[in-house]
Amino acid sequence: MKFRLKHILLLAGALLAFLPVLGVDYLLDSYIKNNALSRFQDSVNTITSRNQNAVRSAIVAMNRVVKESPSLCTPTFVSNVQKQLLAKQQLAQIIVENKDKVQYCNGYNSVTEYILTSAELPIHDSTETIAIAKVSGSDIPMIRVSSQVGQNKIISAFVHLSADLDGILPNDISENAYLRIGLTNGTKIITSGDVINDVEGDVIHTKVVLSSISNSIPIDARMTISFDSVKAVFADLYLILTIAALVMAIGFLIFVFYFIRRSNIPSIDLERAIIKGEFQPYYQPVVNLKTGQLIGCEVLVRWVKKDGTVLSPGFFIDLAESSGLAVPMTIKLMEQVREDLSELSKHHPELKIGINLFEGHFRNSIIVDDVKAIFSDSNVLFSQLVFEITERRPLTNQIAVDAVVGGLQALGCKLALDDAGTGYSNLAYMERLGVDIIKIDRVFVNMIGNGTSNVPILDGLISMAFDLDAEIIAEGIETEEQAVYLRARGVVQAQGFLFAPALKKEIYIELAQQMNKPAKPKLAKVEDSTKTSKKAA
Ligand code: MN
Repeated sequence: MKFRLKHILLLAGALLAFLPVLGVDYLLDSYIKNNALSRFQDSVNTITSRNQNAVRSAIVAMNRVVKESPSLCTPTFVSNVQKQLLAKQQLAQIIVENKDKVQYCNGYNSVTEYILTSAELPIHDSTETIAIAKVSGSDIPMIRVSSQVGQNKIISAFVHLSADLDGILPNDISENAYLRIGLTNGTKIITSGDVINDVEGDVIHTKVVLSSISNSIPIDARMTISFDSVKAVFADLYLILTIAALVMAIGFLIFVFYFIRRSNIPSIDLERAIIKGEFQPYYQPVVNLKTGQLIGCEVLVRWVKKDGTVLSPGFFIDLAESSGLAVPMTIKLMEQVREDLSELSKHHPELKIGINLFEGHFRNSIIVDDVKAIFSDSNVLFSQLVFEITERRPLTNQIAVDAVVGGLQALGCKLALDDAGTGYSNLAYMERLGVDIIKIDRVFVNMIGNGTSNVPILDGLISMAFDLDAEIIAEGIETEEQAVYLRARGVVQAQGFLFAPALKKEIYIELAQQMNKPAKPKLAKVEDSTKTSKKAA
């Protein structure tokens, strides 16, 4: 895995966090659009009912004039027409003509010339018809409402329709609105405002389109408002919501960051480090307390980072175990050990190599095959290998434990109980496990202080090991006093800072060659005499 999942997760989190910020515009646009649609529908309806009323009131005026006059075009008739024209602002003219457009009279005593620019449409539930009329002398088209009187006469009223949005819409909106009044057959009558893009269809982000149809007169109104002008009204809301979304985004980001830091994701670092070979074996010498001879080493893993930092197992071993990475880490480590100690092992096959196993290795017997595969054709002999079983975690699968212990011992390797006395072991457990070596933990060795003559618990451990017929290696020897005490109790093998810390391979190899030059198989024999091959019963 070359990329760093942690960083990718962080990036994904960041994108996710800022999605609402990007979405604010979109969500708010939709909200405002709906808001504008319902809010400004009333305005269009007002326009339509205003125009509908103008037409209706023209019809009422014509009927009244006819009703209140003895006959058409009498002086009374003309006077009544003039009264209506004065009373009704939107009423422009009333005329009487025949079907050939010969005018008999009108409200202003002059001929009203006009042409119709649309078809004549019937008015619902009424005998009148309406059409668009272009009256000479007026640039603005009007509506002509006509009704037949008697056989041959037609009375018509000319009506101004209104497209005036003043007082109907807020000023900054009406300035950016386009209103079109037309007949329901699609013919345009009048408009106001500038056309807002001609693209048909109701496109969000550009315009809001509203329409209204009169329920009795065949006229309608269609209003288009530029969306920017609507949004301008809500500018504050945009700002507030954007800030709110930003605050939420940052909060979410902190949460993601915290979550990633807290979670087990560092194991990804660990995996990458294993692949890159950043886990290096260091070698801590094990010495013979009687002869001072070096008898082998324990392999201790160090995380050598790219920047040169060297980390001890304490920083990562728990994570390695819990994430299951301890198993591949051990394989890499053993391969490195085989390479590092190949030459040394050729000349000193008596030197022991202690390798730590983990609880994860005792769930099945795969480790036996791994050991076989790694060391079979190498200079490192199986008889040099000592596998240490830690007591830090309990081994629960007894069948698998037996298979691993038995399998490794069958190869000629030895098994050691690590950190003995600190964990789950008791005499019965140790006997059941069938280990060859017991490594006494440093906490017991530390009990040997200045002038201590007796450490009963340590003495007990030592005698327990002797009872089991196991070899003993004492760990963590820091003072000469401790070495003397242990030697006096019959402990032969020891490791600790008194002799050497975990060493880089070059130093360890150099030390091993110096201390064992020439190889003295006789001394090696002496130590070997304590060993007896045992198997779990
Ligand atoms: Mn160990």
